[in-house]
Amino acid sequence: MFYTSTRDKSIKVTASQAIAQGISEEGGLFVPCELPQFSMDKISSMVSMSYIDRAKTVLKEFLTDFTEEELNYCVEGAYSAEKFSSPSIAPTVNISGNKNILELWHGPTCAFKDMALQLLPYLMTVSAKKTAEGKTIVILVATSGDTGKAALEGFKDVDDTKILVFYPVDGVSPMQKLQMTTQEGNNVAVCAINGNFDDAQSAVKKIFTDADIKAQLAEKNMMFSSANSINWGRLVPQIVYYFSTYCDMISMNNIKAGDEINVVVPTGNFGNILAGYYAKKMGLPIKTLVCASNSNNVLTDFLKTGTYDKNRSFYTTTSPSMDILISSNLERLLYHMSGENDKVVADLMKQLAESGKYTVSDMLIKDIQATFNAGFASEEEVNDTIKNHFDKYNYLCDTHTAVAVKVYDNYVAETNDDIPTVIDSTASPYKFSKSVLSAVLGGNSPELDEFNMVDKLNEVTGADVPAPLANLKDKKVRFSNVCDKENMSEMVFKLLNL
Ligand SMILES: *Cc1c(COP(=O)(O)O)cnc(C)c1O
Repeated sequence: MFYTSTRDKSIKVTASQAIAQGISEEGGLFVPCELPQFSMDKISSMVSMSYIDRAKTVLKEFLTDFTEEELNYCVEGAYSAEKFSSPSIAPTVNISGNKNILELWHGPTCAFKDMALQLLPYLMTVSAKKTAEGKTIVILVATSGDTGKAALEGFKDVDDTKILVFYPVDGVSPMQKLQMTTQEGNNVAVCAINGNFDDAQSAVKKIFTDADIKAQLAEKNMMFSSANSINWGRLVPQIVYYFSTYCDMISMNNIKAGDEINVVVPTGNFGNILAGYYAKKMGLPIKTLVCASNSNNVLTDFLKTGTYDKNRSFYTTTSPSMDILISSNLERLLYHMSGENDKVVADLMKQLAESGKYTVSDMLIKDIQATFNAGFASEEEVNDTIKNHFDKYNYLCDTHTAVAVKVYDNYVAETNDDIPTVIDSTASPYKFSKSVLSAVLGGNSPELDEFNMVDKLNEVTGADVPAPLANLKDKKVRFSNVCDKENMSEMVFKLLNL
């Protein structure tokens, strides 16, 4: 299996090259040249498997230059019992009727990013041994909150790696900030930037492709790589849980093998939903993928009209991990859906960089709409959904999950398409205690510090507090750097002691 670039099809690399490098030289994203096909028999044979074995079954089709021993080492290390609080790793919970929730937040940082970022450091170090022997990999991360912590936790004290994380100074929840600024490990650094997530992400992408900076790193025997979902190694682990939830739905008698399901994903950078698209293309019977956005609804507009326009107000919402106006992974979808037309993709991305806007052909958007539906939820709707779901089903959603639940309810009301459905739940409600508590209490949020807020939410709802969040109370803050977005490259050198 080889990988190419969305902006230059003449490029051909192995999985380990794609993962070690992170992003293609000319700025394109690595994509598989073809997709492995899973028959229904093969999918059925995965029903009796553990999550780890399901992961091996899917991943070995993509990571064909990894030996079986290497793959076993990676997958068993990533999804070990001491790191995930649920033995099923990513459990599917039936809410009522055909409505199911796929809980992706039982990992060490309580957000779905762990599903990929527990595995990525293993994939990266194995890949680096094959392709960049002896180099120190510097992981540069722009985060809207959850990626940063999950990447820090995944890479901490991993030999021959360093990790630097940039987050928007006012763009993350207090719990997310504490999780990052208290991070332990000898190869980690964290810095706030004056700007929003898109500023951080754009600056990081620029640093990655800056020949001058790369040359300076190379002199020190270092190379950059990415833990953001522009890295193929972030996406491929996410394909697994779509197969896994389908198998669990069979075990739970929600569906029979071969039945179609719908999937609803709270979306930011389009990584999670794109993994669902790959699963569908591989033969998993997914009918419609519903893309759920918050008030930053640039993707809703794109999927409804074919025009992507980031020139709009940016809202800071209670679902900060979705406060994104440039969804990087849409580029991969455009590549596949346009018949792998690298010229078209390169041109659209150039327009996006220059004017913040592009329009795709009628044919292309119609094809996309045959698979993707889209909607968004306002802040008020998110609050109501958290409260209603708790009151009615005794199920506590975080703010991001509530966006998806609301968009799903609207989707069913509009289309009557209520076949068995999986809604991705992307974070523990305790990562966003203040917003969730205020929603549950109908808008009357008490003035409490973050930890008392957690206790109060626990008292009011009875939902379990994840141990990694409860334990933060005793950790000390290690990182308080703040820099302007223009100065990020200097900060990188400073944090690397160069
Ligand atoms: C990152 C994140 C999202 C968005 O996922 P994408 O893959 O960027 O679309 C949604 N919810 C939470 C809690 C997240 O951390």
